[in-house]
Amino acid sequence: MKKITIVGGGATGTLLAVNLIKHAGKQLIEINLVEKRERLGRGVAYSTARDFHLLNVPAAKMGAFPDDIEHFHRWLIDNHYHYAPNDFVPRRIYGEYLRELFNETLKNKSANVVVNVLDDEAADVSIECARARVALASGAVLDSDKVVLAFGNFLPPHPKSDSQSFINAKKYFRNPWRADLTEKIAVTDDVFIIGTGLTFADVVTSLYHNRHAGKIFGFSTRGLLPAVHRLGFVYPSFSGELKSQTKITDLLKAVRRHIEAAETDGSDWRAVIDSLRPQTQEIWQTLPEAEKRYFMQHLSRYWNVARHRLPPETWKILNKLQAANQLRIGKGRLRNIEADEDGKFKITYSADGIETSVSADAVINCIGSESNFNRVESSLVVNLLGKGLIKTDSLKMGIDAAPDGRTIDKNGAVSDVILTAGTALKGVLWESTAMPEIRAQARQMALSLLNGG
Ligand SMILES: Cc1cc2nc3c(=O)[nH]c(=O)nc-3n(C[C@H](O)[C@H](O)[C@H](O)COP(=O)(O)OP(=O)(O)OC[C@H]3O[C@@H](n4cnc5c(N)ncnc54)[C@H](O)[C@@H]3O)c2cc1C
Repeated sequence: MKKITIVGGGATGTLLAVNLIKHAGKQLIEINLVEKRERLGRGVAYSTARDFHLLNVPAAKMGAFPDDIEHFHRWLIDNHYHYAPNDFVPRRIYGEYLRELFNETLKNKSANVVVNVLDDEAADVSIECARARVALASGAVLDSDKVVLAFGNFLPPHPKSDSQSFINAKKYFRNPWRADLTEKIAVTDDVFIIGTGLTFADVVTSLYHNRHAGKIFGFSTRGLLPAVHRLGFVYPSFSGELKSQTKITDLLKAVRRHIEAAETDGSDWRAVIDSLRPQTQEIWQTLPEAEKRYFMQHLSRYWNVARHRLPPETWKILNKLQAANQLRIGKGRLRNIEADEDGKFKITYSADGIETSVSADAVINCIGSESNFNRVESSLVVNLLGKGLIKTDSLKMGIDAAPDGRTIDKNGAVSDVILTAGTALKGVLWESTAMPEIRAQARQMALSLLNGG
C-alpha cells in the first residue's frame, strides 16, 4: 500500500487529498492529512467568519477543478446560495464548499483508499531508505512513501525598524488574520497598518463594519492600493509574442502596447493582464535570474496591485473612508516604530528625503505571509532546513523545487519523497498562490503520485 502524508489541510492539501481519492482507481493507497480540525478545508485563507471578507475572484471562476471551474458556482446554487456567476462570495462560504467537497469525496471513496485525518501538526521529517518518517507534535510517527508539504501562508515578518521594542506591545498585531482582531482594538483607536494589499483591505473592512471611529493610516513602500475588478472584458492571448522574450523591459513594452490596443478597442487593461495568466509560470521559468530580481525589485508591486484585485464592494468602502478623511494612505521607507509605556506608538518614516512621524494606538502588520523560509517560525521548516532536506530557492521566495513540486535538497538532488505545492513554489513558478494554480497543481500532483511519480 502506498502511503502519502499531506502536511497542511488548507485549500492545497485538501484538494490534493480529494484528487488522490477520486483518481485512485483500484490502487491501494493510504492518505494521512495532517491539519488542525478547525482549519481543515479552510486553511488561513478561508477561515474568516466575516461575511464581508470576500473572495477576490468571481464565483464562476473559483471551482475546485481545473476542468470544471464553474463547479463552485453550481454548488452555491445547489445549496440555495443565491449568487450570480460574477459575484464575489464570502470566503467563509468558500471554506464551507471545500470542507463539504472533502467530506463528500470521503463518503464516496472506494474501499482500497484509506484516509486518516489527523488533528495535529507535523514537527519533523526524516528520510530512511528512501522513505519518510513524519513526526507529529503529539508524538505519533507516520511512515510514508511520499510527503507533500502544503503549509501555505505563514505569519508575516515583523516590519524593519531601528527599535524592535514594539514587538511586545499589547496593540501590535502581527497576525492580521486572527479572528478577534477588531475586538482587541477600541473603536476610537488610531490605527497604523503596514502593507496596503488585499489583507489591508480585509482589515479596513473589518474596522468599517465595527463602526470604527478612529483614524486609519495605511502605509507601504509605494502606497499602492489593489485595483478594483471590472468584469466583462476579454483580450486575445499574445503569448506567442512573449515566449522569446527574456528581458523584463521587453516584456513590459509588449504588455503596455497591448494595454493601449485594448483601451483603443474599448476593452480594459485588466483583460490584458488576465490574458497573461496561463503563460505567466512559463515566462517566469525562462527568465534569467537577474531579470527575475529586477522584476521583484522594480515591478512586482505594480504587478500585484494589477493582478490581485479588489471586489467592487470592498473598493467602495475604502473610497468612502478616504473621502471622509478617516483613511489615509502613505508611502515611503519605514524607519522606526516605538511603543511608549502606555502602549502608544510613534511611527517614523521617510519619503522624498523628508522624515515624518505619526502616532497610533494600534499597529497591524499586513506585510503578507513570510516567504523567506530561513525566517519562518515553524519547527517543521526549521528541522527540514537544518537537515538540508529542503533549501530556499535562490530568490528566497519559497522552497527550491522542480516545477512539478519535487523539492531540491541542500546538495541539489531532486527528491522523490518530499514534494511541495502552493505558496512555497512562488520562487520557482511566481504564480503559485491562488486557486487557479492550486487546483491545477493538486490535480497534476495527485495523478503523478498515483502513476508512480
Ligand atoms: C487572507 C487570504 C485570502 C485569500 N483569498 C483568496 C481568494 O479570494 N482567491 C484566491 O484564489 N486565493 C486567495 N488567497 C490565496 C490563498 O493562498 C489560496 O487561495 C489558498 O487558499 C492557499 O491554500 P493553502 O492550503 O496553500 O494555504 P493556507 O490557506 O495558508 O493553508 C495552509 C494550512 O497548512 C497548515 N499547516 C502549516 N504548517 C503545518 C504543519 N507543520 N502541520 C500541519 N499543518 C500545517 C496550516 O494550519 C494551514 O491551515 C488568499 C490568501 C489569504 C492569506
